[in-house]
Amino acid sequence: MLEMFSLEGKNVIVTGANTGLGQGMCVAFAEAGANVCGVARRSCEETKKLVEEKGGRFIEVMADLSSTEPVKRIIDTCINEFGSADVLVNNAGMIKREDALNVTEEDWNMVLNVNLNVVFFLSQEFAKRAIESNRKAKIINICSMLSYQGGIRVPAYTASKSAVNGITKALCNEWAAKGINVNAIAPGYMETNNTKEIKADSQRSEAIIDRIPQGRWGKPSDLMGAAIFLASSASDYVNGFTLAVDGGWLAR
Ligand code: NAP
Repeated sequence: MLEMFSLEGKNVIVTGANTGLGQGMCVAFAEAGANVCGVARRSCEETKKLVEEKGGRFIEVMADLSSTEPVKRIIDTCINEFGSADVLVNNAGMIKREDALNVTEEDWNMVLNVNLNVVFFLSQEFAKRAIESNRKAKIINICSMLSYQGGIRVPAYTASKSAVNGITKALCNEWAAKGINVNAIAPGYMETNNTKEIKADSQRSEAIIDRIPQGRWGKPSDLMGAAIFLASSASDYVNGFTLAVDGGWLAR
């Protein structure tokens, strides 16, 4: 039974692999038997060590994901080094906090480029290569509570994460019959660099905890089970779905 959760022999690309949720998922994938191709704009030395401790191979692709320039190189590197690219996790993302009245066009475009445009084109290249080589493959997008809610002072982030929820369904509709599962995870409030600012604001942090039925912030390790499920054959008939890992936040 547990074999269906195994990632033995699978090669997984994770963007934003150097820290936070991306790093946590890399370790989980290695523990489930996969090799990991980590994409980041700075060194993934720590992630590499953690993955190797779990017995996985780790290769690093240095790439700035604010443009589509590195898209082909990322997929090529994984296939050339490991022989295939079986799972793509579109995890890299950024947030800019600013009153909507003051958001600049430059910041708006930057957030949309990283959180949406590159997610789409990396998925497109990944899917083309999987279809060409007649391999089954899985895409996991990282959504947010702001794929469902409006948020405050983060309009570009909300726009991008709502759109990622949309393309998760759109790409499923086109690619499911071609052997590709496109799903997403919507993390709740997790302790990472992304949330440092609001976690440090004790009033805000307490208000957040009060609203979470489980009564605590999430940790990168809380995402591991969902990530392994959606990457493995245990989820072969799950497609176009966004799984919330939020301690119950969306239930309120
Ligand atoms: P994080 O620690 O800030 O990680 C974000 C990752 O994305 C980092 O590796 C970051 O690289 C990378 N990244 C950002 N811009 C990039 C660029 N231009 N090129 C390459 N890499 C870039 O935050 P996290 O919480 O783990 O975030 C991971 C994902 O989860 C994001 O998509 C985020 O929106 C989503 N998420 C997080 C939460 C939460 O509560 N933490 C909730 C919902 C969704 P650097 O380290 O170089 O900046």
